[in-house]
Amino acid sequence: MRKEININVSESEAQRQLQFVDELKEIYQKKSDELGRPLTYHIATFGCQMNAKDSEKLAGILEKIGFVETDTEVADFVAYNTCTVRENANTRVYGRLGYLNSLKKKNPNMMIALCGCMMQEDAVVDKIRKSYRFVDIIFGTHNIFKLAELIQARLSSKSMIIDIWKDTDQIVEDLPSERKYKFKAGVNIMYGCNNFCSYCIVPYVRGRERSRNPEDILREIRELVADGVVEIMLLGQNVNSYGKTLENPMTFAELLIEIEKIEGLERIRFMTSHPKDLSDSLIEVMKNSKKICNHLHLPFQSGSTKILKIMNRKYTKEDYLSLVDRIKAAMPNISLTTDIIIGFPGETEEDFLETLDVVKKVRYDSAYTFLYSKRTGTPAANMESQVEDSVAKDRFDRLLKEVQAISSELTSKHQGSIQKVLVEEINEQDPTLMTGRLSNNVLVHFKGNKDMIGKIFNVNLKECKGFYYIGELV
Ligand code: SF4
Repeated sequence: MRKEININVSESEAQRQLQFVDELKEIYQKKSDELGRPLTYHIATFGCQMNAKDSEKLAGILEKIGFVETDTEVADFVAYNTCTVRENANTRVYGRLGYLNSLKKKNPNMMIALCGCMMQEDAVVDKIRKSYRFVDIIFGTHNIFKLAELIQARLSSKSMIIDIWKDTDQIVEDLPSERKYKFKAGVNIMYGCNNFCSYCIVPYVRGRERSRNPEDILREIRELVADGVVEIMLLGQNVNSYGKTLENPMTFAELLIEIEKIEGLERIRFMTSHPKDLSDSLIEVMKNSKKICNHLHLPFQSGSTKILKIMNRKYTKEDYLSLVDRIKAAMPNISLTTDIIIGFPGETEEDFLETLDVVKKVRYDSAYTFLYSKRTGTPAANMESQVEDSVAKDRFDRLLKEVQAISSELTSKHQGSIQKVLVEEINEQDPTLMTGRLSNNVLVHFKGNKDMIGKIFNVNLKECKGFYYIGELV
């Protein structure tokens, strides 16, 4: 059994980092006075919601130091929070670094930092050390909280700072975070993944699973609600295995029951679920909940049990379908979405037809469909019988046709009903319209005003436009 995260380490580390923040505040205040303007920062976030959440922590630290956010890379501090799920994600970052170098030539005080999953790869760090010497700081996914300390180190050392941790059991709480939306927030409940699906690089760059203490999660959510948040997204690579590393294990279902009790919180979302760990008690909790949204993202990846085995997904087609049957028996109107990979090494036409069969049987409200792409560093990248591009593309198109036909049919089933909509923003195309989301995540546009943002209203879903609705306030 893994040792519980040492709270004292977390607290003292948080204190230590805040000291660096205070020291930098003075240094940068002087700089700002000299320049006669505030110092600015820009964070470019690549990849998933876990990265978006980490970027909020980076922004929180920079704002505490005194930097002001700007939406261009013409800034005094630029951070790239990178993703490495696909090989081309790396190429994109290298491509943009050249531009940053040209900006730095014009602003020698500019600092460039790279962090996130891509930096967890030795080959990447070597390449940047050799070919992109103008980069100031390189750090990874495990020590996001150390940004202030690393800036301090860079200021006093005059050379590139590299601080990559291969893994960690440390979770540092209580550091500043600057969230994107006033009314909704992502909340990490765990980090890392132990599943090692053969196509996925995440376990190698995000480390082993470690769960946050339930008290810390509940405290963070209460603080968020007190600060105006009505909807939370619980984040983890596999939220269904929450709590296994805790000294006093708590299941994800039990955690949800505690979160549901928080006054003022109106909506609970979570991702991502791994089918092999989704328990009957979670289904029961979702069924009886008033706050958990009517949506479950349940990636199945392939319908072929043969391919699922090679993917190391640890369930069969039958396991997955019977799980879906149990979910639908408990919640007949649940919105199900999924992830599907087409063209995985060894996939035959028969295997593909199994995937289509699952799509026809489950009938997803929507699906993220991916063409398999080799990811160096994963077992699948070295597998024989890679599928020809044209064959994979043809299958991908056939799948998309099926998924979209079902999705638009299911989306339209709510037409004419009155549903609760959380208003998110003024419509980009038409400022007289507000845009919001149903519990099942479908977008709705309706006449309203900006004071409605962050609140939930009853809206009559007048007309379905394929994958969204035009509605009317009731
Ligand atoms: S569950 Fe599989 S696909 Fe998801 S992050 Fe873990 S290894 Fe990757």
